[in-house]
Amino acid sequence: MSYSIGAIRRAFCIFFTSIAIGVGTSASLNELAFQYNAPTYIYPVIWIPIMAGTILGFKLKHHGIFKAMGQRFTQSVKWSSGMKAITGICWALPFTLIPLFSDYYSYLILLGIGLGNTSTYLITRKVNGTSFTEQMIVGLVSLAALPIIIFIGLSHSVSNDTLQFLARLSIAVAYGAGGSYIFQLGNQFYRMTKKEFGKRTEEDWKKQLTPEQYEVCMKKGTETPFSGEYWNCKEKGIYQCVCCGQELFHSDTKYDSGTGWPSFWAPVKQENVKHEKDYNYGMIRVEVLCSKCDAHLGHVFDDGPEPTNKRYCINSAALKLVKKNE
Ligand SMILES: [Zn+2]
Repeated sequence: MSYSIGAIRRAFCIFFTSIAIGVGTSASLNELAFQYNAPTYIYPVIWIPIMAGTILGFKLKHHGIFKAMGQRFTQSVKWSSGMKAITGICWALPFTLIPLFSDYYSYLILLGIGLGNTSTYLITRKVNGTSFTEQMIVGLVSLAALPIIIFIGLSHSVSNDTLQFLARLSIAVAYGAGGSYIFQLGNQFYRMTKKEFGKRTEEDWKKQLTPEQYEVCMKKGTETPFSGEYWNCKEKGIYQCVCCGQELFHSDTKYDSGTGWPSFWAPVKQENVKHEKDYNYGMIRVEVLCSKCDAHLGHVFDDGPEPTNKRYCINSAALKLVKKNE
């Protein structure tokens, strides 16, 4: 499957946030260990599990982000070899200098992150026409932090260790600033891309639903009339989607249609359900789906009661009644 640009940006913002948390936590513990004269082997013991843990933790919670990010890297295939060389040098050169200036390695990492992200941003904007502002933020904040730290080092008697600590914190701040750009992109964007990532696999649904719910909601099955939990139910409350919890029907719109399936004359909100033409069984019917998770709910017909004359004929197995306490 291919992700939208919005979804790819969301993936990067999430990834940047995980780096910010990982680097921020590791750098702080690193500093603490240094203050207490911890043995050298303690530093990789701090950094490696924390960085791997945060990044993998975010990946588990937002599965699909690595795939979405990978999709963006395939864009750079279109770049000319000169452009590839420029970004390659921007990313790699500061890192290759680390063995030569090992006392300043945090500065060099900061410089690499600054130049790498800024150059990638500029070329992506020029060649692919997409402006990944969050990446520019990471690059520019890194580049801006560098002279500030150097200035602090020159004008105050601060130990080299403290300066390195400031450089590492700047990396966390730069990625945190880039990652939080997701909030600037707005609620609509957030919901849209969340839905794109939130798509569960068949296996996920099989685990969450009973076999009957799975058959109805995912395989568009129909339960036997007069057999479901709610066809004759007269309790007050809101019927939610059994798969995702979206509110679908209010008990006030439920009526006895005599069909043996729960019947309603209107959904809670029109945008909470979706309609699709269904040509199965030699009939043309209008299928009703949950607009949030695409679960099959039932069908809608034009022989319902006033005021809408609609009959939403819904499977009990697709619903969950949340009773109203009065
Ligand atoms: Zn749903």
